[in-house]
Amino acid sequence: MAFSIGSLTSIVASSGSGPATATRSVPRHALLVSIHDVAPPLETPVRSLWDLCRSRGITPALLVVPNWHGQAPLERAPTFVQWIRTCADAGAEVLLHGERHDEQGLPRSWRDAWRAWGRTAREGEFLTLDEARAGERIQRGLVLFGRLGLRAVGFVPPAWLATPGCWRAVGAAGLRFSEDAHVVRIHEHAAPRRIVSPVVRWSTRTALRAQGSALVADLRWRAQRGATCVRIALHPGDLAHPRTARSVAVALDRWLDDRAAVSYGVL
Ligand SMILES: [Zn+2]
Repeated sequence: MAFSIGSLTSIVASSGSGPATATRSVPRHALLVSIHDVAPPLETPVRSLWDLCRSRGITPALLVVPNWHGQAPLERAPTFVQWIRTCADAGAEVLLHGERHDEQGLPRSWRDAWRAWGRTAREGEFLTLDEARAGERIQRGLVLFGRLGLRAVGFVPPAWLATPGCWRAVGAAGLRFSEDAHVVRIHEHAAPRRIVSPVVRWSTRTALRAQGSALVADLRWRAQRGATCVRIALHPGDLAHPRTARSVAVALDRWLDDRAAVSYGVL
């Protein structure tokens, strides 16, 4: 479905728990598709996901990791970086997705462990980082992107896990978009505008999780079709398991039939 002005509606957006602060046009039924974990070691499955999206006319956002697990610096993968630049030239938005993605060297408190429970296998790099430390990593990532000719429009913490300070660091870095598992933030004022946005995603860590995530994806279709903005977050492992691969294809088709695929820039 093509995006059209006729599908625009004005919503009152709120900045966190405070009073409504701004009115802005947001697509009534928007679909944001992104590919997470865009990193050299995952190039093959990332490209497969890109092709899957393009075959449906979708240009997904790319969530790029500067140095996957501290072992795959982007600057040592010039061909892959060139591919990302080509995608950006074709309209793909680039978002910074952590610096190394994993939690190496970052001990969790019990509170952190509780927040991350069931969400990630130690892939929540920004789970414990305060504003200053989050800002340092974001800044380093943006400097690297600049050197490589990549322009980031936003930041998404790995596993969508971060501290309140991290969101402030995103705004301070001059990035316009960030998101967690529940909302997309638009950093355009001192307090970011937030759009409630369910996210459809899959897990292939175990066969049981693959089955379960496909069921949840189906439930989201039945229960959350009224949402203003729905995200589909694709991960490199999604096509490796037949159950999730089938579910991803079904989800892309049915959500795309129901609403327009848009870019973050439209929000
Ligand atoms: Zn990730």
